[in-house]
Amino acid sequence: MDYSKLVDLKTSGRLPSPKGVALAVMQLTQQDDVTNHEIARVIKSDPALAARIIKAANAANLLGRRPVASVPDALVVLGLPTVRQLVLGFSLLSSYRDGQCRDFDYQGFWSHSLVTAIATQAISLRTMAASPEETFVNGLLSRVGCLALATLYPDAYSQVLKKLNGDPVQKLAALEQQVFAMDHNELTAALLADWGIPKVLVEPAYHHENPAAANFADGSRSSILVHSLHLASHLADICLAPEKVRRAMLPGLFRMGTRIGVEANEMTALGDQIVKEWQEWGRILDVETREVPAFDDLASHGAPGPEAAGTHQASVTAVPCKLRLLVVENDPALRRVLENTMGEAGHTVFTASDGKEGLELALGLRPQLIITEWAMPEMDGINFCKVLRQTKAGRRVYVLILSDSDDDQKLIEAFEAGADDYIVKPFDPMVLGARLRAGQRVIQLQDEIELDRQDIRRIATELAVSNQRLQQVALTDPLTGVSNRRFAMERLDQEWAAANRSGHPLSCLVIDVDHFKQVNDTYGHDIGDEVLKLTAETLKRSSRVQDTVSRVGGEEFLVICPDTDATAAHQCADRLRKAVAAAAMVAGGFTIQVTISIGVATRDKTMADPDALTKLADRAVYQAKRAGRNRTVAGKASGTE
Ligand code: GH3
Ligand code: MG
Ligand code: MG
Repeated sequence: MDYSKLVDLKTSGRLPSPKGVALAVMQLTQQDDVTNHEIARVIKSDPALAARIIKAANAANLLGRRPVASVPDALVVLGLPTVRQLVLGFSLLSSYRDGQCRDFDYQGFWSHSLVTAIATQAISLRTMAASPEETFVNGLLSRVGCLALATLYPDAYSQVLKKLNGDPVQKLAALEQQVFAMDHNELTAALLADWGIPKVLVEPAYHHENPAAANFADGSRSSILVHSLHLASHLADICLAPEKVRRAMLPGLFRMGTRIGVEANEMTALGDQIVKEWQEWGRILDVETREVPAFDDLASHGAPGPEAAGTHQASVTAVPCKLRLLVVENDPALRRVLENTMGEAGHTVFTASDGKEGLELALGLRPQLIITEWAMPEMDGINFCKVLRQTKAGRRVYVLILSDSDDDQKLIEAFEAGADDYIVKPFDPMVLGARLRAGQRVIQLQDEIELDRQDIRRIATELAVSNQRLQQVALTDPLTGVSNRRFAMERLDQEWAAANRSGHPLSCLVIDVDHFKQVNDTYGHDIGDEVLKLTAETLKRSSRVQDTVSRVGGEEFLVICPDTDATAAHQCADRLRKAVAAAAMVAGGFTIQVTISIGVATRDKTMADPDALTKLADRAVYQAKRAGRNRTVAGKASGTE
């Protein structure tokens, strides 16, 4: 898409964009000298965001590390670029849950995007084509162009959606081109690029609805990414589809799976796992989810048939399950024999003819067990094993080495290189079978441990999330829902430190409701409470996103205005004052009008700490009262009073 067009749209101010704390985090992450500590503090000022970042860190952190329970730990696990992208995604999700476009299903859009995000991440953990941390947001925003069109042109887009009437996505793009001279894929790509998402992830998003048109080389990273996203989006379609059409969509899913090396039986397990995570994330992000039957049941026509019952029986009596298996063998005859016997035993077998090729396949395909020849050209089995053990993906795989020698020294060397088992050639196939079964037991146990770990991580996440909720409660004023005094003081400390560093101005407003006692005396305390709530709402609505409004006393509020000099602060205060004076507050059947007096203070060099700033504003509000109320007074720096 033409960049100048995007600039035009941006200047219209109506494109979806991050807001509030998210915007602050995104701006912070662009500074060179920013520390994790500062970013963590800003994220923690929005406990819901903090909980989501922790959850994301645990979701991406699947490789056996300990659970993440705090924001600073989450920042370490995710890295700043990913945090930036996540914050962006979560912010869009919270700010655009609803909108003006009547025929655009906002809830459905985010439900679909969330499955796509989780599925893209789960698939990338298998394909390793991109870091799982990044792919989550990529999936979440892979159709943000639709949301953007609905936001930019609510009425016209509504018409387009009406015309489409459930027809396929390709037709949507064509209709969009007719009406807007651009389509949602172009807009998605332009927005993602503008938000700093790397090009390798933008391209797959652009092409994912029609990967064939992309012309990426088969097996290339881009091809895997675009097909992963295509699959993830189809999986999302399945999750949201009415029950009776779901089954018909499964063959397509399996076909897409094979393209990126996911077999049907793994696909069903992956599907179930994704649905489970979807429901967990749905609770945390407040996004609607659905119940989806187990994919195995969907695939086997609902009721389990005799065959399915048989396999179930088999797993109960501990007959080893099927494995993803890699044979690395340079002797073509032996390679074929191994491939055939393993295949006949029901395993999925991949083959490589030397260590180098073996390594590539091992890292790409993630086999559970590898049988490798010792003596091979290029890279022998011992070196292959050593290198494999140094990679994250190769640490857990079970490795069995084949050797010509029954020398004890050789055996020791193999185990030192990281082998799990050692077989001397020629061998009896029965012996190999027995050794494999032993290996399978180890693999199964490891899988169980990994499942337990995932449980522990889930519990830790839930704990961390509920801690964040408690913290949010502890920092919120229960009557008005704005932040409380404790929060205000913490935030002021942060802004004070930031202003110290950057040299940018900082102002605050102390606000006191005029003659509030009279409101109580006239209408009663309950109605007084209602008026306080409405006053807080008015203040919040009329202040800028970067300003924080807190209730710091009975009928007293503090507004912190970062990056704001005395003149701007005065304007800000007057806007708030006028908004409150103009608001007709309806409480208990009465229409009540109140006014406020505001003291403004702006940081200067003579002030030692944030306390000096609020004291100055306090004195100014007192002057405003004495001067007749319903007015704004700017505090003069100390000594001049
Ligand atoms: P002024 O500030 O203009 O000088 O007059 P005022 O009447 O507002 O001044 P004052 O500070 O004497 O009174 C504040 C009143 O606010 C007293 C108290 O009853 C009322 N108030 C404080 N907290 C609450 C509350 O949570 N709910 C209600 N309904 N009233 C409250
Ligand atoms: Mg007062
Ligand atoms: Mg008062």
